[in-house]
Amino acid sequence: MKTISLLGSTGSIGRQSLEVISSLGWGVAALTANRNVELLEAQCRRYRPRLAVCMDLAAAETLKIKLADTEVRVLSGMEGLLEAAVTEADVVLTAVMGMVGLRPTLAALTLGRRVALANKETLVCAGELVMATAKAHGAQLLPVDSEHSAIFQCLQGCRDRGEVKRLILTASGGPFFGRTRAEMEAMTVSDALKHPNWSMGAKITVDSATMMNKGLEVIEAMRLYELPLEKISVVIHRESIIHSLVEYCDNAILAQLGTPDMRLPIQYALTWPERTPGPAAPLDLLCCKDLTFRAPDEENFPCLALAKGAAAIGGTATAVLNGANEVAVGKFLTGEVGFMDIPRLVERAMNAVRPVQAPSLDDILAADTEARAAAAS
Ligand code: NDP
Ligand code: MG
Repeated sequence: MKTISLLGSTGSIGRQSLEVISSLGWGVAALTANRNVELLEAQCRRYRPRLAVCMDLAAAETLKIKLADTEVRVLSGMEGLLEAAVTEADVVLTAVMGMVGLRPTLAALTLGRRVALANKETLVCAGELVMATAKAHGAQLLPVDSEHSAIFQCLQGCRDRGEVKRLILTASGGPFFGRTRAEMEAMTVSDALKHPNWSMGAKITVDSATMMNKGLEVIEAMRLYELPLEKISVVIHRESIIHSLVEYCDNAILAQLGTPDMRLPIQYALTWPERTPGPAAPLDLLCCKDLTFRAPDEENFPCLALAKGAAAIGGTATAVLNGANEVAVGKFLTGEVGFMDIPRLVERAMNAVRPVQAPSLDDILAADTEARAAAAS
């Protein structure tokens, strides 16, 4: 029986991953959360991991008491998260929210483990370091993000990356598609959390509304597939049926289609190179609405342009973009700033923090700290 260590098990991806794991009949070695003790306790009772981790210290203390009648070991903080990343398991699936996933991902790759990565912030902040670590230790890094999984699927059988002309990332356009900047100034948290096609955690749902999510995904694709910015384009596809495409040098375009259901890319990252039946809903082509494509509107959605700008600068610029965006989205969710303040705070941080090229892990962590301070001030 294969086993998994699942970081961020109480989140949207984490819960769907457990459905996939149940259907595959895999065992669970470790589960982690931040502070959702109720759900983590229920998951521990059902999946019986060796280890459970709450990032939050008080939550971990509560969990320890709740699980006192079980064999589950309970840890807290980054130390606990790192332990979960290196505990014996066939795959580590990182589905935590934010840059906090970076160190556990590096720890798992250093052991040569297969990492199924949902946590895109890790690749945005430290993509070159993460890819180099995977290569140095012969570890497999497989995408869970639906667009990157689609590209990965379209690249199966491609023996020479030089044959790839361009990757085409699809974007739903989010709840504010077609709106102007002036209209978006007044958008509330509940407006931003109404995604047309996907049900996801709050941070990525806001990122989809600003289109920062697509900007982060452009950087994620550059790092995963080691292609320059010019070879990655974005197209608005409102229906979220085509999950992304690869254009080859002979002008053939391959696409992956499916219902918008994250359980499919989660499962593929676990079972690759094999495919197995799973819980993702089938797609009935005859029930599909028209499939439409449009150019993205970078004028009214400045986050996409900011992300491309950071990608063009390189080095720690993408960590600065990400750190500032995490803070800005957090402030929007708590009502401290307006929706269009998100790109303003990100731009401010990008102007304030000087990028460092070919950064070490310490440079990246320092850039993240500086960016957070600049965006929060
Ligand atoms: P959620 O907010 O639903 O879940 C986040 C998970 O991470 C929860 O288990 C949460 O614990 C935990 N967590 C939050 N903050 C911390 C922290 N500081 N330290 C440790 N653990 C923490 O997010 P999603 O599942 O939506 O997204 C997870 C990742 O996957 C993100 O990087 C996102 O961009 C990416 N992704 C998500 C998709 C989706 O469909 N949801 C699609 C593609 C990518 P707790 O419950 O206790 O707060
Ligand atoms: Mg995505």
